[in-house]
Amino acid sequence: MGIKVAKFGGSSVADAIQIGKIKEITENDKDIKYVVVSAPGKRFDEDTKVTDLLYLCLSHRDHKLPYEQVFQAICERYIHMEQELGIDAGMARELAEIQKQLEQGASTDYVVSRGEYLNGKIIAKYMGMEFKDPADFVKFSDKGKFLEEETNEEIARALKDCEKAVIPGFYGSREDGSIKTFSRGGSDITGSIVARAVEADVYENWTDVSGFLVADPRIVDNPRPISSISYKELRELAYMGASVLHEEAIYPARVAGIPINIRNTNRPDDPGTMITSEPADLPEGQIISGIAGSKDFTSITIYSSHMIGQKGFIRRMAGILEDNDVTIEHIPSGIDTVSVIVNNSVIDGKLDDILDEFERQLKPDSLDVQTDLALIATVGAGMASRKGTSARLFTALAEADVNIKMIDQGASEMNIIVGVRSDDFEKAIRAIYKAFVS
Ligand code: ASP
Repeated sequence: MGIKVAKFGGSSVADAIQIGKIKEITENDKDIKYVVVSAPGKRFDEDTKVTDLLYLCLSHRDHKLPYEQVFQAICERYIHMEQELGIDAGMARELAEIQKQLEQGASTDYVVSRGEYLNGKIIAKYMGMEFKDPADFVKFSDKGKFLEEETNEEIARALKDCEKAVIPGFYGSREDGSIKTFSRGGSDITGSIVARAVEADVYENWTDVSGFLVADPRIVDNPRPISSISYKELRELAYMGASVLHEEAIYPARVAGIPINIRNTNRPDDPGTMITSEPADLPEGQIISGIAGSKDFTSITIYSSHMIGQKGFIRRMAGILEDNDVTIEHIPSGIDTVSVIVNNSVIDGKLDDILDEFERQLKPDSLDVQTDLALIATVGAGMASRKGTSARLFTALAEADVNIKMIDQGASEMNIIVGVRSDDFEKAIRAIYKAFVS
């Protein structure tokens, strides 16, 4: 017997049918003690998440536009779920209270957190489990900083004598009692902090995919699933992981050494991906864990024959980017050159100013800008200390007629990042997959 915390994402709790599935999952595994839930997500492609509807109500209210119709759509979703599940979870009363608060100017955090709150009420009632409000134990400072250690103690205390509970994700409260939410997708964080506090054996994160795949299935046909991957490797694959699991959800489970299991509510028999502290054994003959990439990067290359003898050159370059609120992805360098690679979305509308400042402060011989760069990370703890891995990667890209514009390998030898033209992105990923996996 162990303790599991199971977090169910928006699509897993989008309607009565989905809630029926999560009840079955929970009943079939007696180790699942604590269930963390999101607000109802999309039921079909064109549908709108309840959290987005709540934000919409607020923007209407704040622009003095009528919001009753949007609020009505939210009410209907919850009332309908209650009816379909054949329970009375007090939705009519709860919704009336929220509407009253909305009218009286309630805060954004309070209003958007109600998506999770109401869903938690319904699910607790339907599953016959206790409802625990995270406002009582997920703590933020009055300035809105998440209070990690205090929360850890408070959760442990709140759940000590509670054998099974449903806990809404996404929010907690400030010292003054007002509601504060995490950033979007934050129910993943709630699941992880609950898992840490109750010293869970596993944190199951239930979603609508059966874990991670070695490569993007829109690019590679039928890629292999990743059955196990270490936290470190997953971080290196951040371009891939972000959409499945909130980045900040990894830390609490990781410090407590709790594995995170990504599971599929619609295919509960699939084992999913296990994220663990140590890298796991890969299938026979496979040395990489995953390939992930993204288009839309810009590289700015600075040529300066004086750079080598100058102190503080990189610091000044980074300072200019910092002043422009631009984060850096990579800084590959040569003897007389240094390039900085940034995401197009963060440099949008700022490039000319940044180049002017580079000219003025760094006095380079020349500057070169390329805006159509794609980055591809090939990641795997199995690559470390193995000779010939880079040769295999570069040969595969050469044979696929892909020109490599940049190379960056961390000294951990766990990843090789290449920059290619955006046009070559898909071709490059397929070539790497073929060389290492299939
Ligand atoms: N409902 C929130 C959102 O849509 C939080 C979550 O689902 O994790 O961002």
